[in-house]
Order: sequence, then structure tokens, then C-alpha cells
Amino acid sequence: MTTIKLKRKKEESLLRFHPWIFSGAIDKIIGKPNEGDIVNVISSEDEYLCCGHYQIGSITVRVLTFEDEQIDRSFWQKRIAAAYNMRIATGLANSKETNAYRLIHGEGDNLPGLVVDIYGNTAVVQAHSVGMHYAKDIIAELIVEVVDGVNNVYYKSEGTMPFKAPVKPTDEYIIGGETPTVAIENGLKFYANWIDGQKTGFFVDQRDNRALLEHYSKGKSVLNMFCYTGGFSFYAMRGGAKLVHSVDSSQKAIDLTNKNIELNFENDSRHEAFAVDAFKYLEDIKDKYDLIVLDPPAFAKHRSAINNALIGYRRLNAAAFKQIKSGGILFTFSCSQAISKEQFRLAVFSAAAQSKRSVRILHQLTQPIDHPVNIYHPEGEYLKGLVVYVE
Ligand code: SAH
Repeated sequence: MTTIKLKRKKEESLLRFHPWIFSGAIDKIIGKPNEGDIVNVISSEDEYLCCGHYQIGSITVRVLTFEDEQIDRSFWQKRIAAAYNMRIATGLANSKETNAYRLIHGEGDNLPGLVVDIYGNTAVVQAHSVGMHYAKDIIAELIVEVVDGVNNVYYKSEGTMPFKAPVKPTDEYIIGGETPTVAIENGLKFYANWIDGQKTGFFVDQRDNRALLEHYSKGKSVLNMFCYTGGFSFYAMRGGAKLVHSVDSSQKAIDLTNKNIELNFENDSRHEAFAVDAFKYLEDIKDKYDLIVLDPPAFAKHRSAINNALIGYRRLNAAAFKQIKSGGILFTFSCSQAISKEQFRLAVFSAAAQSKRSVRILHQLTQPIDHPVNIYHPEGEYLKGLVVYVE
């Protein structure tokens, strides 16, 4: 096996269990690893530190374990069972009201580069590293063995491999072959389409925040911007909103939203959906809505894009502050990992100041329990939200 030796003092972050090794920390590579291989990492004093997947790029190793152990069937079994047990302990797995949840959240579940979402009896597996791609079959087999009721595993990594990876995965079933289905979240139904949908088919990370929106929806005119499958919209409907408008620039998203609303509420005339650009839609809605949701795609996919992303968040939020009714509530989010909670809050603050309105923070939101943050890997906290009351 290849061994990677670190420069002097470069073991410090590993002694604090941070799961990434950057290329600049490496003194020498003993052996000729291929991307995706499992490598051992030692300090400048030749002490064993960890082992993980080798990768070409600025993150050279993603750590699988800090113990001196083999990465074999029993290792994967232990990790997957630990993730599942946490979802059981917190009441999420095997609940009657919700059968869509994240089983494995990368570093948050000590499996860097792996994401697994569950929709009823189906697991959708996404590899973000070549090492996880190579391990997909054993991972799929163990998910079926460990997770009660899962017997269908779809692999969806065509779009998630690192740039220039030496492998080109195809999206396909690894186990079973059952086609997309209806799943439930807090008792509301939605079509989980892992084949055609974005990411694994549905954004399970907004579950708790949607429930909070439901709580505020009674009698309100609600605008759900960047609605995708309409998650926030169907919660607002159940919460008793007077009207719900869903907006997304993609016609496919609008069709999905309409289908999901119909699935839960048939032809309820309180709902309408529009395929239009968010910035354009916000221009012309003065005092029309009491409750606005802004849940855009990640504006900063890389650190280099942070400044432009912050300008984007400020512009978007400024438009909402300008238009929302007096006494209105704004739910505003950023899912850009590269943007910190403080930076996002500052962008919303600047947007509020432009409107010169009185704005109070009611809630500070984040990702739900099935997207845990490894305490040693604070970068894992990616979803940030503010709920503000606008006078
Ligand atoms: N709020 C959603 C997830 C949003 S994903 C949920 O709860 O599931 C982001 C969505 O923004 C995508 O559906 C994408 O089509 C849409 N989008 C991207 N750019 C847009 C724009 N300029 N105007 C409107 N929608 C946009």
C-alpha cells in the first residue's frame, strides 16, 4: 500500500481529526498511487496517523479512519450501521410520517465523498470521489443488509465525480430496479424522481425549515421562490395559506411542483406556479405577499466565487425586502458551503439596510439532523437560513 509522509508539523490538523489532507502538507509519496486507492498517512516522525482515499487535487487524501484498521467489509458495515443507528435514535428512520431522509452525509458520517438518500425502499447513492466510486458495490450491498426495508439501490454519480476523474460512472441500479415512486415527508406526499430530478431527486435538507414555514402560513399570501419540487409550497398549503405562488426558472421544476400539489390537494385553486426568472418576478410584486421564501441554488460553488455570490445574495434579498408587505416574514437561505453564516448574515443585513425597513431576526436556521456536522469538520455546515420579520 502507498504511504504518504507529511511535512514537519503538518500532522496537527489530523491530530484534531480533521478529515482532509491538502497537497501542501505532503513531504513525499512512497509508492505510485492511482486516484481512488487507499493510502496510509504517516507523520514526519514516521508515526501512523490515518488512512483514506487518495485523490488528485488540492485535497489529496480524504480520511476514512484514524485507527489502524483495514478498509474492508467490516469497516463499511460499521460506518453504515453507525449512520443508520443515529437516524433511528433521533426518530427519523422508520417513522410513519417521513420516509425520505439522508442516511449518509459525507464527512458528517465519517464517510468523506459519500452521500446516500433514502426514499422508502430505495437508496440513492452518490459518490463524490473516485475512492467511493470503487466502493459502490459493497456500500450498496451493506445498505440493503443494514437498513430495514431497503431493497432497491440506484447509483447516481454521473455528475458528481471530480473534474478530470479517471472514471466515468453511469447512472444505474446496482440492486433491484424499481422505478421512481411517491415518498412522504411529515405526512405530505411528493414524487421522488431519482432518475430525472436534480441531485438525488428531492431536497431532504429543508424538511425542518418547511415545517416551520407551515407554522407561519395560516391566512397568508405565500411566495415560494426557487421552488424546484414545491416543497415549501405544499407545506404552506397544508398550513392554511390564503394563496401560494411558486416560482422557478425551470419549466420542469414548475411541472413537478404542480404535480406534487395535485398529489396532496387535488385541484386546489389557492396554488399557482410560474416558470420565470426569480429576479424578474420580484420586480413587480409590491405588497403582494406576506411570506416570501428565497431558497436559491448555491451562488458560490468555489471559494473564488464568494464575492460575486455575496453580491447575488444581497441583490436577491434587497428585492424581497423592497416588495414584502408590512408585517411580512421572509425565509431566506444560502446553501453555499463556501459562504459562512456570518457572511450570509452580513449580505442579508446590507439588503435590509437598503430598504430602510425595520427588520428583526426571528429564527436562525440550519440543516436537519440527517445532515450532521462532524465537529472536527466545521466546513460541513453548509445550509444557513434566517427568518426575519419586516415591519
Ligand atoms: N427550494 C427548493 C430547492 C431549490 S433548488 C426545495 O425546497 O426543494 C434551486 C432551484 O432554483 C432550482 O430548481 C433551479 O431551477 C432554480 N433556479 C435557478 N436559478 C433561478 C433563477 N434565476 N430564477 C428562478 N429559479 C432559478
